[in-house]
Amino acid sequence: MRLPCFTDVLRAGQTLRPHLPPTPAWSYPALDAACGAHVVVKHENVQPTGAFKVRGGLTLLATMPAAERDRGVVTYSTGNHAQSIAYAAREFRAPCTVVMPEGANESKHRAVEALGATVLLRGTTLEESATAATLLATRCGARLVSPADEPALIAGVGTAYLELLTAAPDLDVIVVPVGGGSNAAAASLVVRTLAPHIEVIGVQSDAAPAAHDSWHAGHLVERPNRTEVEGLSTGRGFALTQQLMRDGLAGFVLVSDNDIRAAQRLLLSRAHTLAEGAGAAGLAVVLGDPPRFAGRQVGIVCTGANASLDQLRSLLAA
Ligand SMILES: *Cc1c(COP(=O)(O)O)cnc(C)c1O
Repeated sequence: MRLPCFTDVLRAGQTLRPHLPPTPAWSYPALDAACGAHVVVKHENVQPTGAFKVRGGLTLLATMPAAERDRGVVTYSTGNHAQSIAYAAREFRAPCTVVMPEGANESKHRAVEALGATVLLRGTTLEESATAATLLATRCGARLVSPADEPALIAGVGTAYLELLTAAPDLDVIVVPVGGGSNAAAASLVVRTLAPHIEVIGVQSDAAPAAHDSWHAGHLVERPNRTEVEGLSTGRGFALTQQLMRDGLAGFVLVSDNDIRAAQRLLLSRAHTLAEGAGAAGLAVVLGDPPRFAGRQVGIVCTGANASLDQLRSLLAA
C-alpha cells in the first residue's frame, strides 16, 4: 500500500474546501487552570457528523473514479467512521452499506441511516463485522473501505493538523487519541513535515491497548478489546497507520476509561464542550501527568461529540 505524503494532505485541503469550513481551536482559562498548562482544544466535535473522520471520508470518495463510485462502498465501524463514509457517499451520490456490530451505539446507528446508508448489524465485535463487510463487498463488486489502512483517509484527516498548526503555531506538544490510527498517522505526517519540534503523543484506553502495544512492540499485535470508549476501540494494530506512527509519535500512553470520563466532565464544566469519550482522551493524558505538561502549550484534539443519551446519563450520575 502506498504511504500518503504531505502533498496528499495539501491536496486534500483543496478537495475539502467546498465541503467543510475549518474548525475552531479555542483555549479556556478555566480549563488551563485545572490543567496547569495552556491547552488549545481543536474542535472536531463541531463537524457536521460530530467527528473528525468526515475529512477522510470526503477525501476518499472525492478521489474514487466515478465508475467505482457507482458500484458503491461498503465499510464496517462502531459509528463515526460509518457516519463519515455515509456522509461522503451522500455528497457524491454513491450507494453505501455499513456493517456494525450488534449493540452498536444507537444514536450513531440512527445517524448513519438518516444519511441514507444501509446499516447491517452483523457479529458482536468489529472484527466479526469486518469479515461480513469483506464478504459483502466481494459479492456485490463494491469498494471495501478499511477504517484505518486507507491513504486517502489519512490525507484527509491531516487537514485538521494543517489548521491546528496555523491557528496555534506555538504548540509544544499535541495529544491525539488512537483507535485504528488514521488520526495519529495524519498528525505524525503533518507535524513531522511542518513543525518537527512538536511532540505528538498517542493515547489509547488500557481496556483496548492493541495500537499502543503494537507501537511499543514494533510489530502488529492483537489485544482484548473491552473499552467502552468506541473511538478508541480496536482489537488489533493496522499496518499502514502503525508505519506512520512509528517515526511520528514521541510517545504512546494509556489511560483508563474512568480517567476519560473525568476528562469528559471537565470539558463540559470548564470548556462548555460536549465530547464523547475518545474526544476527551487527550485531556485525560494531560490531567494524569501534570509534571509532563506543566507550563507547556498543549494541543488536544476533541475528536468527536457523539455520546449517546445513556452514556451522558451515566457520565453525569458519577
Ligand atoms: C475514530 C475516532 C478516534 C480514533 O481515530 P483513529 O483514526 O481510528 O485512530 C478518536 N476519536 C473519535 C471521536 C473517533 O471517532
